[in-house]
Amino acid sequence: MNSFNNTIEFIKHIYGNQEFIPLSVPVFVGNEKKYLNECIDTTFVSSVGKFVDRFEEDMARYTGAKKAVVCVSGTNALHMSLMLVGVERNDEVLTQALTFIATCNALSYIGAQPVFIDVDRSTMGLSPDALKEWLVKNAEIKDSECFNKNTGRRIKACVPMHTFGHPVRIDEIAAICDEYHIELIEDAAESIGSLYKGKHTGTFGKVGAISFNGNKTITTGGGGMMLFNDEELAKYAKHITTQAKVPHRWEFRHDHIGYNYRMPNINAALGCAQLENLDRYIESKRKVAAEYIDFFKKIDDVDFFIEPENCFSNYWLNAVILKDKESQQEFLQQTNDNGVMTRPIWELMNRLPMFENCENDGLKNTIWFADRVVNIPSSVRI
Ligand SMILES: *Cc1c(COP(=O)(O)O)cnc(C)c1O
Repeated sequence: MNSFNNTIEFIKHIYGNQEFIPLSVPVFVGNEKKYLNECIDTTFVSSVGKFVDRFEEDMARYTGAKKAVVCVSGTNALHMSLMLVGVERNDEVLTQALTFIATCNALSYIGAQPVFIDVDRSTMGLSPDALKEWLVKNAEIKDSECFNKNTGRRIKACVPMHTFGHPVRIDEIAAICDEYHIELIEDAAESIGSLYKGKHTGTFGKVGAISFNGNKTITTGGGGMMLFNDEELAKYAKHITTQAKVPHRWEFRHDHIGYNYRMPNINAALGCAQLENLDRYIESKRKVAAEYIDFFKKIDDVDFFIEPENCFSNYWLNAVILKDKESQQEFLQQTNDNGVMTRPIWELMNRLPMFENCENDGLKNTIWFADRVVNIPSSVRI
């Protein structure tokens, strides 16, 4: 039986030998209290207020997107993104089985079906090679729309996810989506601050969805955001996420089924303060990752997952790769028994009862990762 004592000692050491080392906790060292007090003092705590506009502008500037639209969670950012690109009931959406449930929940709200495509060993995210291979075998184009030859269903969108903050090969995926008339939405929930060839993740497709949940790199308590290069689409996104009310000083007129997905001003205030420190947090996370890289070089049978080529990763959650499933379970047991919080990668979507009958391409690398990956403590050290 393998002993992971050295690893446990090292993780405790880099996090200052606390008794319990959590996986990832938020830090509030900036203007959070000041901005929250401002909301309370001015009574603007709810659906209007200057922090909502400011957070959207700040995020657009930070990511290089033309427009950013906030909402109340990453999950509803994905839900809205899929609706905005025209995904409808019974459409198929190509995505990963190696993701958090929110990706698949969002498309299920519309009544669409996921098709699970394998991931790359170098990124842990959707593989352009596997995507192309599946499309060549199964897709046909009719009247500029893509259809699955076997099911007859339309393939409307593709949703790659930047796993743990590591960017996928997004330019290759974008080119394939273009060729096949498939809309590209990025699940960038985990990858704020992560760049692919110098460009921010979430800005390559028609819409990119970001999450500000408490466990993400920066948090608004709960919250989400959509990134757009198309200003008209962004305007429409704002409209349908705010009850589709036609602007008027006193009339209540609505021109569409709308959603109450607007982020309250207090959450946006927290977001503005967090964003001011995002670069510091990422620097700290990358420093932790660099220390892990050095350490795990010397440890047999445990590999540390490193950012892909041409990428700058936020290292949201650090991941190690054990040599097999047995070793993964042993690592989880020993670390959690000794005050170091670790977690296996998510149960694969195709193994959950809601999605077990959905089509997949065999998922060779996906299964390989599921049997080996463990997330280890990744908090910012400030
Ligand atoms: C966190 C996360 C989401 C959803 O975010 P919420 O804000 O919690 O709704 C979506 N996709 C992935 C991959 C995530 O990690």
